[in-house]
Amino acid sequence: MSEATSIQADLLVSAKWVIPVQPQGAVLEDHCVAVKGNKIVAICSQIDAEKTINATETLYLPSHALIPGLINAHGHSAMALMRGIADDVPLTEWLEESIWPLETKFVSESFVLAGANLAVAEMIRSGTTCFADMYFYPDQVAKAALAANIRVQLASPVLDFPTAWAQDADEYISKATKLHDDYRHSELIHTAFGPHAPYTVSDAPLKKLSTLAEEMDLPIHMHVHETAKEVSDALAADGRTPIERLKQLGLLSPRLVCVHATELCNEDIASLAEAGSHIVHCPESNLKLASGFCEVAKLSKAGINVALGTDGCASNNDLDMISEMRTAALLAKGVAEDASALPAHQALEMATINGARALGLDAMIGTLEVGKYADMTAIDLDALNSTPNYNPISQIVYATQSSQVSHVWCSGQQLLKDGEFTGLDIQAIKSASAEWQAKLSAATD
Ligand SMILES: [Zn+2]
Repeated sequence: MSEATSIQADLLVSAKWVIPVQPQGAVLEDHCVAVKGNKIVAICSQIDAEKTINATETLYLPSHALIPGLINAHGHSAMALMRGIADDVPLTEWLEESIWPLETKFVSESFVLAGANLAVAEMIRSGTTCFADMYFYPDQVAKAALAANIRVQLASPVLDFPTAWAQDADEYISKATKLHDDYRHSELIHTAFGPHAPYTVSDAPLKKLSTLAEEMDLPIHMHVHETAKEVSDALAADGRTPIERLKQLGLLSPRLVCVHATELCNEDIASLAEAGSHIVHCPESNLKLASGFCEVAKLSKAGINVALGTDGCASNNDLDMISEMRTAALLAKGVAEDASALPAHQALEMATINGARALGLDAMIGTLEVGKYADMTAIDLDALNSTPNYNPISQIVYATQSSQVSHVWCSGQQLLKDGEFTGLDIQAIKSASAEWQAKLSAATD
């Protein structure tokens, strides 16, 4: 670089390791990322930065890895208020005997806002800067996300049956299109259609969503093949797997995001690969509900983009994408009976660029690249459990605690500084959560 290419920046972050995620597996030692406004304007060595970058603010992180902000590609943020309320039961019993009755009784604007505030704080603390959310009152999740300056894709729910949010599929769909209109120019709020699952949404609304998603160029985010029972019930009903039914309804496309995707036969995998549909793997939720196994290595080999999500807190029970990466990497090896099945760098890709692709946001986020939004997470690797450090990507995936996340930026705005929140009132969030705990506890006694 010559003096003539001098770059003006608002912020220059110098880190021991910059891990841009692309090129795959790259670790740039003693490098910098320069930010102007909400975007990354340069990535270079610290030596070059001294000569060419003129920054208003500089930050030196001598023992840290700087990575793209983590992307939690599936969850239900308001369910943070139900963390631990119904553990150790299978999915059907969990949903029908605990979660759905509680939701019928309590879900409201104020419940969703309090839960989303709690979830957003937990996600920022553990290095997440973008999350996909499927829940009622998505406008309240938008409010929480905007207040915290975190990025979200709201998958507005669609079901056949009535809830506090809407009465029938038509009303859910009209609320989803209104939500899109309300936030179509927002930098942080993105929208998608969120039909809950093949077994809760009938053919007519699914066909309508397929058409609308194409017209509006929006993703369809849906739980698909969560359990063996879901698949065997569908086969018993009409001889088709849920994926086969979605294919015949015209839903398989690059806009479809299938969450869970366990119990896929070879024909299902070929159909998803051919259509360019995405999968979100939620390993801890699948393990906790004993839902089944997503064959990540096999799916990736088939060319399917596989992202990573925590799912809601009631089935995880946290929103920590660092531990989720570790679980994904370990589980994939066990499922494939192959220790090389999901290497550390691939787990990091699932939690960053693959999530961005699934959400249709990969031109904006998911890697550290010039021109993308400055969504960045710094992790301090100066800890006993990160020592010695032969490979920072291995450390992050296999040995790091989320408490080592030290700094977080979203769209260039700093959300976490030296492990402390810059803008959120954590005491107020905890108090509101305690009030809801008292109400939910009284109802479950
Ligand atoms: Zn879910």
